[in-house]
Amino acid sequence: MTVTVLFSARPALWPVYEPLLTKGLTKAGLEFRLGTEFDPDQVDYVVYAPNGGLLDFTPYTRLKAVLSLWAGVESIADNETLTVPLARMVDHGLTQGMTEWVVGHVLRYHLGMDRHITVQDGIWTPDAPPLAPERQVCVLGLGALGEACARALASLGFDVTGWSRTAKDIPGITCLHGEDGQRAALSRSEIVVLLLPDTPATEHILNAETLDLLPKGACIINPGRGPLIDDDALLAALNKGQIGHATLDVFRVEPLPADHPYWAHPNVTVTPHIASETRPTTAAQVICENVRRGEADEPFLHLVDRSLGY
Ligand code: NDP
Repeated sequence: MTVTVLFSARPALWPVYEPLLTKGLTKAGLEFRLGTEFDPDQVDYVVYAPNGGLLDFTPYTRLKAVLSLWAGVESIADNETLTVPLARMVDHGLTQGMTEWVVGHVLRYHLGMDRHITVQDGIWTPDAPPLAPERQVCVLGLGALGEACARALASLGFDVTGWSRTAKDIPGITCLHGEDGQRAALSRSEIVVLLLPDTPATEHILNAETLDLLPKGACIINPGRGPLIDDDALLAALNKGQIGHATLDVFRVEPLPADHPYWAHPNVTVTPHIASETRPTTAAQVICENVRRGEADEPFLHLVDRSLGY
């Protein structure tokens, strides 16, 4: 039977994905129709990104699954018109990109690069940074991205604590969970990386109280999602020196408004949601594998638990 796959994402991506999906679906041995427009009641699978504009799945009466091109699914997980499985993106390229970005920004803080490289003020201060094993780094979220980043940091010798919802055992990483685990993880960490999803349970996970748990002068790196941080609390913590510096890639409102205090704050680095992105070549393989699984009645990869929101 012919499978109909609708591509509903940013139109500029279609010319990139069309040949890759065609190749992958052909390789999977499927008969298929692939395009950006079909009658909704003909569609079996939607390849989805929020900027494709699809909000109402009610007319998609024969839909078997929605396959997200994004790892973060906060904008669709609570869509009540969606009644079929939702798979999110776990992509090798996305993971490698995030690992490189996080390691780079941790090293910036660890080595004091701003002091010794960016500022060339003629003052000779021969204070070498400690070695990585003497630096406590914490990764909040030990999923596809958080675990890869935690492992990469541990492989460089950093003293890494990870925190997640459920208990984990990852060699070389102190894995904690639950509220006590969060307190313990934050209390010891000079550098905190946020790689949690945006859900009702993670909103404002960094707030006035939890920021105060950190050692004075700690640094925050947020490539997760904007709502993980209470912005007013972070600005207050930065202004009193409780937080030394923050590197923020994601925001409650994106693009970050030009008058937002983060832009002008001397101890904040803003990056424009570029920590990592889905890489079409590898992501198309993940999508095609999930269509193949759907047609073979095999379990989908990377299913979202919509009751948890991730
Ligand atoms: P995963 O779903 O694989 O991992 C999420 C992790 O967060 C899991 O370890 C999970 O715990 C943990 N978690 C979820 N809820 C809680 C909670 N209430 N308390 C403690 N831990 C919790 O996601 P990914 O690693 O693939 O991605 C993480 C996020 O990164 C995405 O949701 C997205 O928002 C962001 N992202 C940002 C990008 C960027 O360019 N800035 C690019 C791609 C993603 P457990 O393992 O126990 O379930």
